[in-house]
Amino acid sequence: MTQNDAPTLHDTIVIGGGAAGLSAALMLGRARRDTLVIDVGSPRNRFADHMHGVLGNEGTPPDELLRRGREEAAGYGVRTIPGTVATVTDVRAASRWASPTATSSARVRSSSRRA
Ligand SMILES: Cc1cc2nc3c(=O)[nH]c(=O)nc-3n(C[C@H](O)[C@H](O)[C@H](O)COP(=O)(O)OP(=O)(O)OC[C@H]3O[C@@H](n4cnc5c(N)ncnc54)[C@H](O)[C@@H]3O)c2cc1C
Repeated sequence: MTQNDAPTLHDTIVIGGGAAGLSAALMLGRARRDTLVIDVGSPRNRFADHMHGVLGNEGTPPDELLRRGREEAAGYGVRTIPGTVATVTDVRAASRWASPTATSSARVRSSSRRA
């Protein structure tokens, strides 16, 4: 393994940048956790033109809500990248990668392919 192949460590990797994932990422960012969101970009309501019943967002296009969410999370240092997470592997045993204080670590393999 070369220096360039070395894995990047994050406090948290959120799989999926829908409303749930971005909400979690926002709070993690506020808590100063180094957080990465990997999102393939297919939220379940992607076929709806407008959303309803979310306070302050009556009639907002769903993709606009997510755009705002990514922007708000980015304000706390959260980075969102496109990709599909294919596997998550526990790497606690691989002590070379895991922080000695980490209670759980994961090696995430993602591709940049969008759905
Ligand atoms: C047609 C329709 C209309 C709706 N209208 C409303 C409404 O008006 N008001 C309302 O409150 N709710 C509405 N909902 C419900 C709302 O869409 C869901 O509650 C909300 O989208 C759930 O958010 P989520 O983040 O859990 O999942 P999602 O929005 O589905 O987001 C999950 C994200 O994770 C990504 N992902 C999944 N697996 C991977 C992977 N392995 N690697 C990388 N990324 C991945 C997906 O591509 C997606 O971007 C509607 C739902 C539908 C289907």
